[in-house]
Amino acid sequence: MSAPLLEARQLSVEIGGKTVVDRMNLSLQPGERLAILGRNGAGKSTLLSTLAGLRPPQAGAVLLDGEDCALLAPRQAALRRAWLGQFQNDPFGSTVLETALTGRHPHLGRWDWESKHDAELARKALQAVGLDGMETRQVHTLSGGERQRLSIATLLTQAAMLYLLDEPLSHLDLNHQMAVLELFAGAARDCGAAVVMVLHDPALAHRFCDRALLVYGDGRCAQGTVDDILTAETLSELYGYGLRQIEDRGHRCFIPE
Ligand code: ADP
Ligand code: MG
Repeated sequence: MSAPLLEARQLSVEIGGKTVVDRMNLSLQPGERLAILGRNGAGKSTLLSTLAGLRPPQAGAVLLDGEDCALLAPRQAALRRAWLGQFQNDPFGSTVLETALTGRHPHLGRWDWESKHDAELARKALQAVGLDGMETRQVHTLSGGERQRLSIATLLTQAAMLYLLDEPLSHLDLNHQMAVLELFAGAARDCGAAVVMVLHDPALAHRFCDRALLVYGDGRCAQGTVDDILTAETLSELYGYGLRQIEDRGHRCFIPE
């Protein structure tokens, strides 16, 4: 069997003197989707950026496609995983198309310009998130939801096999939330991509992921299949708020008490 697209071995992550996870093991095969859930400040973003290789762990290792990411150059890491951060900043003026094209940079040689093929990939990605026709717009003129969809298009142009998505649904209306989740479901199903996403809606996590990782914020974490772990009991403890569970046509909903 080939190496998992993502593996964490005995991973310990800390931030500001607080333990996020302690000797955690995690493995993600092609086609698998994992949701990360936890309260605000539990350390989900810190964990995700550690899994992306953007932050060194306190102990243990993260492997991307079998390679220790501590040993990978940034460009090599960017060919293996695409990371969507929670916050975007646009210090330089650029258009929607130019921004989407930055996803191609890991694929280019040092002195290469983007080719026609790169531009086609970027246009296709913009179309996939419903931003076609906006290619020449300046990024700073976009709404929050449009900017979020542009970040997702940029990730798609990167064409990595592992997506690490920090709150990919933020700023999106219901229609676009479903479209984005379907998009990554398609990437997993049709292309064998693996997807890790920080989500705040356990019902969507249950519907669109195979497994979930709960991060409690005190160093404890728990993993399992969504059916096993996304229950009223575990989620009530995770969020510190009582929830009731309802099943409807195979989908699971959670209602605050
Ligand atoms: P989450 O994504 O789960 O909301 P984060 O990973 O962003 O949480 O942050 C985890 C905790 O670490 C929070 O309490 C946050 O305030 C704190 N934190 C984030 N960055 C730093 C930092 N650079 N120094 C100290 N504490 C930080
Ligand atoms: Mg966060």
